[in-house]
Amino acid sequence: MSVVQRKAMLKAEGFFAHKKNAKGTTIIYSRKHPSAKFVRVVVDSGIDNKTNKVVGKVGVKLCYVNRHKNWREITTEIFTTNTGLVKTIRAQEAAEKFVKTCKHCKAKKFTAKSGNVVCANACWTGWGKYGNKSAKETKKSSQITAQKKSQKVTPKNQRTYPLNKRVGKSSQKKPQKIVAEILPGDLVSIERIELDTFKEDYTGKVLGIVMSVTGSGRVNVNWTANTSNLESFDLPFTNHYDTRSRHVLRFKVLSRSVEWAEAA
Ligand SMILES: [Zn+2]
Repeated sequence: MSVVQRKAMLKAEGFFAHKKNAKGTTIIYSRKHPSAKFVRVVVDSGIDNKTNKVVGKVGVKLCYVNRHKNWREITTEIFTTNTGLVKTIRAQEAAEKFVKTCKHCKAKKFTAKSGNVVCANACWTGWGKYGNKSAKETKKSSQITAQKKSQKVTPKNQRTYPLNKRVGKSSQKKPQKIVAEILPGDLVSIERIELDTFKEDYTGKVLGIVMSVTGSGRVNVNWTANTSNLESFDLPFTNHYDTRSRHVLRFKVLSRSVEWAEAA
């Protein structure tokens, strides 16, 4: 009875069944979000596609369909029973307005496998020198995405380095090496530090995308914009510096949350 009821409810709510479920054996349903563009309400029916029996609760979540047609989960899946189904669908629909939007391309943000909340379009990878729309660039950005995927990014809550503050307050005379985790695909600007004190942020004036980082920490950046008074040779090119430097121009990663800290 509950299979029939569950399917009837989904039909009444305007859902249609997908042909495939890439992750399991249950029938997946979806439909458009009532107002948000590119957002779909996705329901895991909990009904087995072979036996047509209920094998679990019904799960409801929102997905954003990005410009490469990948579906990105933008809300946490909520599991419920038939009784709670419609209410859960409404709750998920309402949750859409709390999902952060990328300020560059207006896509929704989602939590990537790295634990970072990033643009569903990964739009920062397409900001190279070839322009956004050429085939070349599409190829390039997918390479960068692949490259990014292969790099393990330590989730923020698992990083163990000390806070920036301690760097300046340390009474040690010994110079310290200050490093940041800069990765290919990162969208970067610059910030100026003087004697461990923040002096100037170049966000909006200087913009680049990290193309590669060598083992020794040399960062190759494709600078896409520079309306500051800095010359190209002023721009940073390493993921580290030393506390002996009084004036430092260092990377500021815009696409992720990255902190500078003493090297372990
Ligand atoms: Zn974006």
